[in-house]
Amino acid sequence: AKAAGRNTFRFYSQQMNEDAVQRLDIQNRLRRALERQEFILHYQPLIDLGSTRIVGAEALIRWNCPDLGMQPPGLFIPVAEDSGLIVNIGEWVLQEACRQARIWKDAGHGKLVIAVNLSPLQFTRGNLVETVTRALTDSGADPACIELEITESILMKDTEQVLATVRQLHAMGLRLAIDDFGTGYSSLAYLRRFAVDKLKIDQSFIRDLPTDPDAGAIVRGVIQMAKSLKIAVLAEGVETADIAHDLVLLGCDYAQGYYFGRPMPAEAFAELLPPPRN
Ligand code: C2E
Ligand code: CA
Ligand code: CA
Ligand code: CA
Repeated sequence: AKAAGRNTFRFYSQQMNEDAVQRLDIQNRLRRALERQEFILHYQPLIDLGSTRIVGAEALIRWNCPDLGMQPPGLFIPVAEDSGLIVNIGEWVLQEACRQARIWKDAGHGKLVIAVNLSPLQFTRGNLVETVTRALTDSGADPACIELEITESILMKDTEQVLATVRQLHAMGLRLAIDDFGTGYSSLAYLRRFAVDKLKIDQSFIRDLPTDPDAGAIVRGVIQMAKSLKIAVLAEGVETADIAHDLVLLGCDYAQGYYFGRPMPAEAFAELLPPPRN
């Protein structure tokens, strides 16, 4: 039994070693990817359910890896967060999203809102206000065209530093959306405290809308609460016409999901936009 125990230990430690080596390898690859500009943003339409028009896009990062092909964020963002590299990657995302916002503004789509995902580390380790300011001035993008998506976990930290940062970003004219709403600890007090502009209801509730009365009750409740607080609501992960129809009946403001459009390169997204009225 002792021998087996020792072998087990050796097995685990070897396994842990391999994991650590693999993570280090991915970290190094990510650092190089940043230098070689292998990241790319795809854009997914944000739809106004009243008019069914595109009012914006969520910027979603991909890694166009020469060896492995196009990699989704789920495969590398967690490693980037563990290593702190997410701060640099997040800075690139802000620069790139602002650059694109300026291009679309110059093409006559000045009202288009681009939503950018932020990691908690960008609040605590990076100088977020400085990074955002630089991205805006470098690009000449309109702050009102940039919406920052954060998760409930950032707000639950509720430190003075986070609150001060959010207030500064607001004062600069940027908007704030709560991502994956309903999956974290939802304290309603912070929605007011942080003057949140939009709630994005997590796709798990939206997916179950047609079959699960509880999901319906939650979505209805969130929409009503948001309305009375004058916060806009977007439903994530809308995959069918049925669900889109239900959301209209529930009074949901905005939607996003495969039914309306998948994330796509900027050029493909631009083709979906109506010709600008000059
Ligand atoms: P998220 O912010 O919740 O983004 C929505 C995810 O749902 C995207 O996955 C999108 O492709 C997917 N999605 C959209 N519509 C549908 C639908 O109708 N059905 C289903 N099943 N899925 C849908 P993606 O692009 O793989 O991104 C995954 C996550 O990676 C994001 O979740 C976000 O948390 C993170 N992420 C993406 N880009 C960035 C970034 O630039 N910075 C940071 N920090 N995180 C990012
Ligand atoms: Ca998001
Ligand atoms: Ca989300
Ligand atoms: Ca998510």
